[in-house]
Amino acid sequence: MTVLVLGGTGEARALAGLLVDAGIDVMSSLAGAVSQPRLPAGPTRVGGFGGVTGLADFLASQRVSAVVDATHPFAARISANAVAACGSAGVPLLRLARPGWSDHPDSARWHWVADHEEAAATAARLGQRVLLTTGRQHLDELVAGLGHHTVVARVVDPPEIDLPATWQVIRSRGPYDLVSERDLLHTNAIDVLVTKDSGGALTVAKLDAARELGVEVVVVRRPVWPGESTTPQVSSAASAYDWIVGDRAQR
Ligand code: NAP
Repeated sequence: MTVLVLGGTGEARALAGLLVDAGIDVMSSLAGAVSQPRLPAGPTRVGGFGGVTGLADFLASQRVSAVVDATHPFAARISANAVAACGSAGVPLLRLARPGWSDHPDSARWHWVADHEEAAATAARLGQRVLLTTGRQHLDELVAGLGHHTVVARVVDPPEIDLPATWQVIRSRGPYDLVSERDLLHTNAIDVLVTKDSGGALTVAKLDAARELGVEVVVVRRPVWPGESTTPQVSSAASAYDWIVGDRAQR
């Protein structure tokens, strides 16, 4: 019997490490969206399952005893698929997600928006020089609203769409510290920062640098997690590990 960790996050890698160390069979799964992903300990598979049916088939064929959905807070499709597939297959599901940044001391002064299109419109109104840290997948939703602005788009992999001439792409991967984030904002004379509410410590320094430099911050709210009212949730790999060990003890 195997624990399936739907991953792609630091929390998922931490959980896979705990399970491997404890001798518990674990299989991590990555979307395959990033060209050189950081790999977790233990066996890993890469690529989509083929929707709810494909995931349910995978759970049965691999004799999966429990699933931990530790995907990114904005990865709404795979999370919905996990809720549906685990429900139909009768496999216990746990959500592992880091807390968002809503309790950051500056959150009340940020501009919270529902989606990336609203983020573009809000950023366009607030300033002229915009830093986008929302990832490659959302650039097409931002282009229309910011097509005439000076934009620095920070991404891990190269964008798949043509970008306006006033846009510059910086390729890098976190974690980032306060000194480098301050330097990035200052060097590019950024007056608006756009981010998703990804949460966690690895990319929070940009928010602290923005406060220091008086940069406006636009934050895209997380999508509602589809298992919100039905599925247990934890915010750390250690708590997810405890749930798995407890779940196995009850069987
Ligand atoms: P998604 O839109 O929820 O997933 C799209 C499809 O990719 C799923 O339907 C599934 O395909 C496959 N998939 C996703 N995660 C998988 C996993 N762990 N294992 C196997 N298949 C998986 O998620 P996404 O495309 O990965 O990301 C959407 C959002 O999350 C974006 O906002 C993105 O920027 C953010 N994200 C950020 C990070 C990060 O590290 N910053 C990492 C991941 C995602 P099938 O239906 O075929 O199974």
